[in-house]
Amino acid sequence: SYGEATRVLILMSETGGGHKASAWSIAEALEAQADHPLQISIVDMFVRHTNFPFNRLPKMYSYLSNKPRMWEAVYKTTKMTAGTILGCQEALSLAWIDHFHRCVEEEDPDLIISVHPLVQDGVARVVRRIRSWRNGRDIAFVTVVTDLVDIHPFWFHPAVDRCFVPTEGAREVGGKCGIASSRLAVCGLPVRKGFLDILGRRREEVRAGLALEDLQTVLVLGGGDGVGDLGTLARAVGGSMRGSMRRQLIIVCGKNTRVFEELQEEKWPREIRVFVLGYVTNMFEWMFSSDVVVTKAGPGTIAEACICGLPIMISGFLPGQEEGNVDYIESRNIGEYHPDVSNLAERLKAWLADSSLLERMSRNARAASYPRASLEIAGEILEIVQGRREAQKNIER
Ligand code: UDP
Repeated sequence: SYGEATRVLILMSETGGGHKASAWSIAEALEAQADHPLQISIVDMFVRHTNFPFNRLPKMYSYLSNKPRMWEAVYKTTKMTAGTILGCQEALSLAWIDHFHRCVEEEDPDLIISVHPLVQDGVARVVRRIRSWRNGRDIAFVTVVTDLVDIHPFWFHPAVDRCFVPTEGAREVGGKCGIASSRLAVCGLPVRKGFLDILGRRREEVRAGLALEDLQTVLVLGGGDGVGDLGTLARAVGGSMRGSMRRQLIIVCGKNTRVFEELQEEKWPREIRVFVLGYVTNMFEWMFSSDVVVTKAGPGTIAEACICGLPIMISGFLPGQEEGNVDYIESRNIGEYHPDVSNLAERLKAWLADSSLLERMSRNARAASYPRASLEIAGEILEIVQGRREAQKNIER
């Protein structure tokens, strides 16, 4: 009934850290703006609701993202032609639809938000099934795309009520994949509220809270899983920071415990203050405190770094999915891509000595940022919910 809380189901999977971060950001933004109670549940569809081997999807992703050629083969063959796209979706939906159906029955949502490319087709089928039953529940279904430029067609299903994309390029792909333009909205990539709130704070104060000093600071990252050869990268970055000036190096290893332990044992140059961290939940503070980020071209990391005005040194990318992100950064003069670590270290050294270059890139990063993306997306989603509640109210009258 319209008097009750609206049940929201957010579907993600921890294939990398980006989908989870987006899921949280949307949940926070919905709660901040809703004028009636919401009951939000965030579910890793594959781990919680499918069986072997699909319940190992996050592990498979972590494995594949460290084998870029293999990843590229999977990514590119699954989107090769309209036939392969349909065929793959058919096969996956056959494998998953009963599991997805059980999940939707269990959660009994009024609204489903997907932030993962692999669930669109299966969930659209479940929603259609439930809608078609006599007195079936009318579930709203929206997608929030969390890739930046190269968007796999699996993200787009013409039956969704709304599809939020981060860039104009992504909107074009959505249109080609059959989504009506009235259902496509460009809002930027949703990032957690901490990134918006921190813009109102002073950097010295945030640094002090993290036991950082007011020194030139470089942050090294490899996505949520700490992928890429983070150890070699961090050592090379450390090397490029040597000199007469004291500096700070922050290395976030994410879920990569092996590299975390390895780097804790490392002997660093004396003039550099080094912070080796595992998985952090306050990324906005570490980014806000830094002057440069060195990272793979992950969409979440890029969106967050832009908000914090961080020049981005790109060390690598996942072929297919993150390829276009490199051009996105370079064409806007927000950063550079150097796949070779020694070149990267050399360029970083030049960056650190050129404060006007850093300032320019920082300004360009801010200009490309969407700190209010999650609030905008949540606002539009709440309008859809409100529309349905009004309709329900009229029926109950
Ligand atoms: N992240 C985090 N804590 C960590 C490492 C990463 O919160 O210790 C977050 C990071 O802020 C970003 C996401 O994980 O939101 C990484 O997303 P991205 O799209 O860059 O790469 P993915 O890990 O999805 O491949």
